Amino acid sequence: MLQQTGVSTVVPYFKRFIQEWPNIDALAKATEDEVLNHWQGLGYYSRGRNLLKTAKILCQNYNSSVPQDIKNLISLPGIGEYASAAIRSIAFNKKATVVDGNVKRVIARFFALKGKLSDNETDISNLAKFLTPNKCNSNYSQAIMEFGALICRPKKPSCDICIFKKDCLSFKQKIVSNIPEPKLKVNKKDLRCASFLAINNNSILVIKRKEKNLLENMWQLPSSEWVTKNTSDKLVSQAPFKANWIQNQKKIKYKFSHIDLLNETYVTKVNSQINLVNENYKWINIKCLDKYPLVTLTKKILENNSLI
Ligand code: SF4
Repeated sequence: MLQQTGVSTVVPYFKRFIQEWPNIDALAKATEDEVLNHWQGLGYYSRGRNLLKTAKILCQNYNSSVPQDIKNLISLPGIGEYASAAIRSIAFNKKATVVDGNVKRVIARFFALKGKLSDNETDISNLAKFLTPNKCNSNYSQAIMEFGALICRPKKPSCDICIFKKDCLSFKQKIVSNIPEPKLKVNKKDLRCASFLAINNNSILVIKRKEKNLLENMWQLPSSEWVTKNTSDKLVSQAPFKANWIQNQKKIKYKFSHIDLLNETYVTKVNSQINLVNENYKWINIKCLDKYPLVTLTKKILENNSLI
């Protein structure tokens, strides 16, 4: 969960997750829908899918325990260099060098490595290995990551109370604010789309996403393609079936890292649960929605329409 996501966001998810599946055996018996459901809103859903695959492998091949050696750890789905080092260091107190974004920034500042972090990958990696202690590796790894998160923060680091300021080269050279050099801002695309909320008594029509991407196997309202914001396309024409679709007054703005999306919602009430050719469509009772992992935009639309 902590790959790409901050601790404060993760904590409530982790608590709910561990309550539902307190050990590897319990998790291995879960379905992908159940796991994705607990992952809703956390993003990067492949992490949840890989966690489930890994739990199943650990049950079958490792007597339901986590291996300690790099070769076996790296062979597990979703565990790469960073996660294997974090597991070996933090969980097993083995000598392993954990290098996340916080560690990179601390090292770049302490040694005054000018330029972007990506320009200094090799130096940072070598220095991180050089700093890694032989003993108490678990404490060290957690300490340096926390130090980066709480003291040597990306913006406004607390240099005045920092215990390393006498030795920190960036501080001595008064260049802390320039290290690391900020990434160039990406030019975001402005797009719009339509979502279609079809209601039959207490049920709504949803569709399971089958595209091989981050949201694979998540559920959402039927939607149109995404088009450039300024085009005059009538997106309602892409509704899953012909009906009296009424547009919600309120549009929803949704931000992705590279896209600003403006969603128009069209609502219709129908007398029967229309059968659609595509087998990925399903009518679901609103009371059962919590069993389905929904994409965040669909959740927002349902909230706006007082359905959840
Ligand atoms: S003095 Fe400032 S820049 Fe240097 S390590 Fe401490 S917090 Fe980071």
